[in-house]
Amino acid sequence: MIWTIIIIAGFNSTLAKGESQMKAEYLLQGKKYLIMGVANKHSIAWAIAKAFNQAGAQLAFSCQSEKFMEKTAKLIGTEMDSPLMLQCDVSKDEEIDAMIKSIGDQWGRFDGIVHSLAYAKREELSGMYAHTSREGFQLALDISAYSLTAVAGRIYPLLNPGSSIITLTFDGSQRVVKNYNVMGVAKASLEASVRYLANDLGPHGIRVNAVSAGPIRTVSAKGVKDFNRLLDNLDQKLPLRRLPSAEDVAGATLFLASPLAAAVTGTIVYVDCGQHIIAT
Ligand code: NAD
Repeated sequence: MIWTIIIIAGFNSTLAKGESQMKAEYLLQGKKYLIMGVANKHSIAWAIAKAFNQAGAQLAFSCQSEKFMEKTAKLIGTEMDSPLMLQCDVSKDEEIDAMIKSIGDQWGRFDGIVHSLAYAKREELSGMYAHTSREGFQLALDISAYSLTAVAGRIYPLLNPGSSIITLTFDGSQRVVKNYNVMGVAKASLEASVRYLANDLGPHGIRVNAVSAGPIRTVSAKGVKDFNRLLDNLDQKLPLRRLPSAEDVAGATLFLASPLAAAVTGTIVYVDCGQHIIAT
């Protein structure tokens, strides 16, 4: 990776050339991370996995089903050093327990989790939010929000001090976005969970944050009715005059996982080309 991050090492310090830069490729050297939520090459979790791999991290992947495990294994190919592959449907406590046991058995302690998953029934992602069914509400909140708590609450004893837990959210948690509906309510719950988990796990040296990504074309995003129409000319309305990419999201996630974010916890980092500051 070419980009470098300038470390300001003191107000008046004059560092010799070379000492002032930390290469991104070393940011996670020697660290072990669990990546949850790769479905295909368009998944935000896949962009994050590639960035973490390039930054030197050893990875484990957890996938919802055998089908997604096979797809992820194909994507990985020879690109990464034989990562751990685990199956975990986060709606099932026994699968979460089994995943955590496997990581513990094979890795012992490790350095963090990327939680990049969500689900709501397609029929809940159109029309009036007021028509959300009880079952649809419970399912969306269970998979998209509670799963972070279920995993974090069980896994933190295995995390080293300095570890980082990062989840993915969307600004539909704060503002009404047409058709996002129950997923906006789930993301609001997820963001509140980030703050409560950050407070619980901070004394163990574990940071918990979220990245709020702008709209990116993925399978999940296309489940929201008229998602493509939402993107029409949106780039021209954003402060940066472009849409964010999965790689943009991966960069901010890498920052949050790295020691550069050692004092950052309980926060939501927007990676949306400035969308959250304007009325679109
Ligand atoms: P994606 O469809 O590629 O990923 C969603 C993942 O959720 C899939 O891997 C799927 O297997 C997993 N998942 C669903 N139900 C599960 C279950 N029961 N158990 C385990 N895994 C389950 O889509 P994505 O856009 O990469 O989504 C990743 C995260 O990013 C989600 O939290 C999403 O809400 C968030 N996000 C996406 C956008 C966007 O525009 N794409 C914007 C902001 C936030």
